[in-house]
Amino acid sequence: MTSPATYYFDNNATTQVAPEVLDAMLPFLRDLWGNPSSTYAFGRQLAAHLDDARARVAALLNAEPREIVFTSCGTESTNSALHSALATQPGKRHLLTTAVEHSATLKCCALLQKHGCDVTFLPVSPDGALDLALLEKSIRPDTAIVSVMWANNETGLLFPVRDIAAICRRRRVLFHTDAVQTPGKLKIDVRDLDPDLLSLSAHKLHAPKGIGLLYLKRGVKYQPHIAGGGQERGRRGGTENVPYIVAFGRAAELALERLSYENTHVRALRDRLEAGILQSIPGSARNGPPEPRLPNTSNIAFEGVEAEGILMLLDQAGICASSGSACTTGSLDPSHVLTAMGCTAARARGSLRFSLGIYNTEPDVDYLLAHLPPIIARLRASSPG
Ligand code: PLP
Repeated sequence: MTSPATYYFDNNATTQVAPEVLDAMLPFLRDLWGNPSSTYAFGRQLAAHLDDARARVAALLNAEPREIVFTSCGTESTNSALHSALATQPGKRHLLTTAVEHSATLKCCALLQKHGCDVTFLPVSPDGALDLALLEKSIRPDTAIVSVMWANNETGLLFPVRDIAAICRRRRVLFHTDAVQTPGKLKIDVRDLDPDLLSLSAHKLHAPKGIGLLYLKRGVKYQPHIAGGGQERGRRGGTENVPYIVAFGRAAELALERLSYENTHVRALRDRLEAGILQSIPGSARNGPPEPRLPNTSNIAFEGVEAEGILMLLDQAGICASSGSACTTGSLDPSHVLTAMGCTAARARGSLRFSLGIYNTEPDVDYLLAHLPPIIARLRASSPG
């Protein structure tokens, strides 16, 4: 029995492991499974492979290898960044972030609020933009860290993190950016951007789930969030996940090589998909401006329909997309990102995110453009309103 074809338009959720990445990691599951901290050669030999992978991910960021701390995921990296900022500056209990961050940041901040911290969630304009004057005004003497994402996972919209880093430097406050959605899509140069801390996650760049990193600028004080052995120069306890770290290294190398492909081929596919939908489906509109935006992401509102229903019918046709809404106990909450941009709850509930990747093809886009309009028409015809 052959499984039905899958048309995958949800690359901001996770990505397919690249065959090159799988090839690179398999020997470390099959044969080279020792512990790099061991004294004997069988384990010890792995330290060189860790160094090699660290150098490769550092190259993706234009960082120094010693500035890379491997973690289990983007969520851990961001939680570690915020906790460390508070732990290393005991008198400072204020955090400054935005209303449209990923839940990795928002939920961590909510928990910190419960523990007595003060958090400011900056609003965004209907275009999804931040007011940088307001950001600067919101920095207080007791601000421990400013945490602003680079690219929004739901809309693909970019924040000017280079300018934000400059403000934070001038105001002598730590700056962390959640850059999880950017590798392979944007050029990342930490020397130019100059954040103090930056989070990445490997499963967004064709490596497996369960490995991430925290970039920690040389000289920035740090207190480990996960205490244990002396791994990662004492900055993150736990035996290193060597196969996944090797995979991350190979994926980072490929992401650098494919940067221009994402910005030409993938961007062109995304633009064709977006234009095709907007032209063929009345009552559809893009959420947010076309730029500055990730080259692979399109977020579209469909008037008079619920995303949940569209996703169900797309799923029956083998198409994977996402609503960007948090599904809690069976009810779909409207997206906090679209709500912060001023969308009504109805518009937010009728919005879908399509996020493309390097494995999407022209026929994939044709397939989606053939299937989506009748699905929307069918749902509208059956809706009571
Ligand atoms: N930040 C952003 C912007 C994301 O899109 C995601 C994943 O969806 C995360 C953080 C969390 O990354 P991870 O799944 O590795 O914990």
